[in-house]
Amino acid sequence: MGGRYPSVLLFGAPGVGKGTQGAVLGKIPGFFHMSTGDMFRSLDRESELGKVFLEYSSKGLLVPDEFTVDLWRDYMRTHYEPLTDAPCGPPIVLLDGIPRNLRQAELMDDAIEVRRVLHLVASDIDALVERIRRRALEQGRHDDADESVIRNRYEVYERETAPVLGHYPSELVVEIDALEPPLGVLRQVVDALEPIVPACKARVGARGART
Ligand code: ADP
Repeated sequence: MGGRYPSVLLFGAPGVGKGTQGAVLGKIPGFFHMSTGDMFRSLDRESELGKVFLEYSSKGLLVPDEFTVDLWRDYMRTHYEPLTDAPCGPPIVLLDGIPRNLRQAELMDDAIEVRRVLHLVASDIDALVERIRRRALEQGRHDDADESVIRNRYEVYERETAPVLGHYPSELVVEIDALEPPLGVLRQVVDALEPIVPACKARVGARGART
């Protein structure tokens, strides 16, 4: 794609609900949910790429930056670019899990046009740890099964990821109270996104009749 991907960053600590919101919004025409956790977990565990991922994620560490951003670029080329001639123009990318530190943010500056940063905020870390433990049990996640790995993920978040917020103009950042029930979080997210969605009536029907 010639230009930059129109993007919204889903930003916040592990377990804060980025994936839940991203999955719902990604079903709506005009949005494309891109989760780096899902991208990495879809790698074949026996492949070279899959082994690199496991080596880091099993310790709660970030996968190296160049490797991650290169993989992200490939993912976008194969999954997003075929969608760009949608009736309402290129979908807005909901970036979930990337950029995860300042180096990644810099590497991606030429590739994304950030329209909003949705900062999902939860003051109660214990509530998040509990969510993550439950999810690990339900989904059989190897990386989140161990309490010390979960704690390490929070340290990495505070040290490396939180500073990414300062990389973008403050007027793009919207704080979302992530401890509300999922529907309440969704309502806040929708309010934050409405101003940036292009006005467009999608064509309906095989012959392209307009509503
Ligand atoms: P989920 O949101 O589904 O819990 P995460 O986004 O936390 O998944 O990703 C799981 C693991 O994948 C991380 O702990 C990390 O090892 C790796 N990972 C995901 N995104 C990135 C990234 N942008 N840079 C480096 N590593 C990443």
